Amino acid sequence: MRYRDLGKTGLKVSEIGLGAEWLERHNAEEVKAVIDCCEEQGINILDCWMAEPNVRSNIGKAIAGKREKWIIQGHFGSTWQDGQYVRTREMDKVRVAFEDLLTRLGTDYIDLGMIHFVDEEAEFHQIMEGEFLAYVKEQKEKGVIRHIGMSTHNPKVGKLAAMSGEIEMLLFSINPAFDLLPASEDMNTYFAEDYDENLGGIHPDRADLYQTCERLGVGINVMKGYAGGRLFSAASSPFGVALTPVQCIHYALTRPAVASILAGYDTPEHVMDAVAYETASEEEKDYANVLAKAPRHAYSGQCTYCGHCAPCPAGIDIAMVNKLYDLAAMQEQVPASIKAHYEALPANAKDCIACGGCEERCPFGVRVAEKMEKAQDLFG
Ligand code: SF4
Ligand code: SF4
Repeated sequence: MRYRDLGKTGLKVSEIGLGAEWLERHNAEEVKAVIDCCEEQGINILDCWMAEPNVRSNIGKAIAGKREKWIIQGHFGSTWQDGQYVRTREMDKVRVAFEDLLTRLGTDYIDLGMIHFVDEEAEFHQIMEGEFLAYVKEQKEKGVIRHIGMSTHNPKVGKLAAMSGEIEMLLFSINPAFDLLPASEDMNTYFAEDYDENLGGIHPDRADLYQTCERLGVGINVMKGYAGGRLFSAASSPFGVALTPVQCIHYALTRPAVASILAGYDTPEHVMDAVAYETASEEEKDYANVLAKAPRHAYSGQCTYCGHCAPCPAGIDIAMVNKLYDLAAMQEQVPASIKAHYEALPANAKDCIACGGCEERCPFGVRVAEKMEKAQDLFG
């Protein structure tokens, strides 16, 4: 298992994580089998957003005596009322549900205290300026949570959170289908049967979020990496072509700022399917050819940092130069940290001999030589 820095939190998370939502439909024994398998495979991060009491208790039993092996992402605002999940900002209910989470998980701290599911900008401001954030900060001051995070599906809210200085990491929905879409306050639009036919490639709202997070050191953990399984079949995928789990994982893990993809598992076999990513070949991981040739919404002209264009005779890491260029180009001035990273590369845009080999190999038709010229102008 490979591990990555989660932004500036100081935590090193396994790049494959456990999104525990599906465990809600299993008994204690089955939950333990999945969690034990995750642990054996080196998975060290789990998200428990669910408020349902049994699943919380079953997870608590499965990690009993091994709490310190896990980085737990627990949520503020996910509550259980009259036998149902309710997302709320009513503080009396938020407090009770969070204390219940600690009790049922059998722990006195949560590593990542997540402000749960904020997709509306107005609600984001209410939370950040009111008693909700005050309570979350109090938990951090007391050491009950170690870091403050937020979960959202809206890239505009994600960007506000990243820029707030209060939110250290995000749980954000990333997959190639959602990445086509502009920001929305209604998550259901992401699951629409048909997308606007003009869409193709990563929407600027989302590219902006990923670049902002990377620049500010706000790590992203990924949810909905498979678009609810929709991407696994040509019939249900908006691209009209199927992707594999390994390709979806690779797509998510090659976005800037991403640390871990939290997948859902019903069984140890499902865990092993995701962990197969760790030993997959480059061909198996290659989402680029699929997306570039998709019958609908094909990505084109835009660098997805897939690395398909290698090797470069000048030794340039083209995907990295493109990523740093995109990060810097959105700023009024090139940030010193990005410039330093660029200058530390063994070869960079000034070494490009415009041979064109990369452009022949790039499935997205990116005009790389032109981009290298732009990078040279920008970075000097
Ligand atoms: S230039 Fe093309 S092949 Fe190279 S990383 Fe970007 S999208 Fe991939
Ligand atoms: S065009 Fe430039 S970046 Fe592309 S392979 Fe040739 S030397 Fe490398």
